[in-house]
Amino acid sequence: MSFKLAIVGRPNVGKSTLFNRLVGRKLALVDDTPGVTRDRREGEGKLGDLEFTVVDTAGLEEAKGDALEARMRQQTDLAIAEADLCLLLIDARAGVTPLDRHFAQLLRRSDAPVVLAANKCEGNAAHDGLVEAYELGLGTPIALSAEHGQGLGDLYDLLQPLVQAVQEGEIADTITEEAELEDEEGFDPETPFEPDLEAPLRIAVVGRPNVGKSTLINQLIGEDRMLTGPEAGITRDAIGVEWEWRGRKVKLFDTAGMRKRARVTEKLEKLSVADTLRAIRFAEVVVLMIDATIPFEKQDLHIADLVEQEGRGLVVAVNKWDLIEDGQAVMADLTEKLGRLLPQIRGVPIITFSALAGKGTDKLMPRIEEVHTVWNSRVSTGKLNRWLEGAVGRHPPPAASGRRVSLKYITQVKSRPPTFAIFSSRAEEVPPSYKRYLINSMRKTFGLPGVPIRIFMRKTK
Ligand code: GDP
Ligand code: GDP
Repeated sequence: MSFKLAIVGRPNVGKSTLFNRLVGRKLALVDDTPGVTRDRREGEGKLGDLEFTVVDTAGLEEAKGDALEARMRQQTDLAIAEADLCLLLIDARAGVTPLDRHFAQLLRRSDAPVVLAANKCEGNAAHDGLVEAYELGLGTPIALSAEHGQGLGDLYDLLQPLVQAVQEGEIADTITEEAELEDEEGFDPETPFEPDLEAPLRIAVVGRPNVGKSTLINQLIGEDRMLTGPEAGITRDAIGVEWEWRGRKVKLFDTAGMRKRARVTEKLEKLSVADTLRAIRFAEVVVLMIDATIPFEKQDLHIADLVEQEGRGLVVAVNKWDLIEDGQAVMADLTEKLGRLLPQIRGVPIITFSALAGKGTDKLMPRIEEVHTVWNSRVSTGKLNRWLEGAVGRHPPPAASGRRVSLKYITQVKSRPPTFAIFSSRAEEVPPSYKRYLINSMRKTFGLPGVPIRIFMRKTK
């Protein structure tokens, strides 16, 4: 079985260039019969020792008649239906365009495994576009230059385990079927994947007006410095404030500062919703700040939901703790509500402090760093498959039309957030409730609190 990679994206981002680089001279046109609309090209791709099929969906753009949006929809549907992985390509020099956003949205809404790559990254002109790419909510983009052959090593690292998993799919099947159910070993949480310590840890502090976001940020980075602007150790740009915490670079999406600027131009209301989303998309870990004196309700939950949908890590920070007498009651209420209303992210750290007094705020950064580590974590394929066997043994997927549904193999597709693919010949018959069971079990077994976990079901023959 050959692994299929589909290259998706708007015109001119470099899809064909990438296709040609991967396929080289062995290019094969599948639909080049005269009179037949060429809707895609397929070829045998090679990257290092990896061999896989590459699909270039570029031809669809040439189809006449339909509106561009309809053709994009078609292109994406096709890619999703056929591919083991969709690679959404954008042009980092041009930055993120509305069409790129549209593609990203289509892909995020589908259940397809997708990876983001920014092309034309040679030289400096691509820097801003690469940063912007994060807002597409598809994780860290791979920086490529299809024309100059740069970034292919990163693409290799990402593809290698996936291609291998698909190729081993059938072998794994036999192994799982025949293997005796091993005794449950105590699974150690996998040694976390070392996050890139050079890249700044990106944080956003979000929450309803007046919960104390500005007060906290001033507390964290020092008010005077914020007012006087850039100086030693701190730089500001349009997106945020950069500083260092325990030798680690940190970048804070500064909604508070933006709001101050907005106040001057009286655009306060418009800013809050769009900016919360922008902040979440920018961040790796989001701090949802709430006011201890005001019960957790719909608006807070809405923000937490966005964090989950965008696949970010979450820390809940309860501010104004100085005004609370019965702390235990407040915590009990909050813990209960989070567990009930936000079951998709279990184990979110909750911390309490008084930003105004600067009391307890020192607990925040260590928790953020922990969630960030979990968000970056990788679990080995061996451990995953042993876990899957145990989880399925304890509680098998419901039979569909009288036949057993077997889950053959699992592998981690990516981190940030942890994302897994489970291969099954009847993938489409695994109900969402069973996926939730697997996610909860996985979270417990491997210790993955405070981050969304994604599981995709992939069909094997
Ligand atoms: P497609 O429409 O997405 O298939 O894009 P093409 O592959 O036809 O490329 C569009 C344009 O971008 C062409 O002029 C390519 O030469 C150019 N291009 C492709 N890759 C790169 C790259 O890595 N760097 C730069 N600077 N240009 C590139
Ligand atoms: P933002 O709208 O979320 O940025 O909130 P601000 O930082 O502007 O704070 C709103 C109000 O809450 C201000 O009057 C702050 O002084 C007050 N505040 C912030 N933190 C605390 C706290 O820890 N305790 C108390 N009692 N008040 C606070």
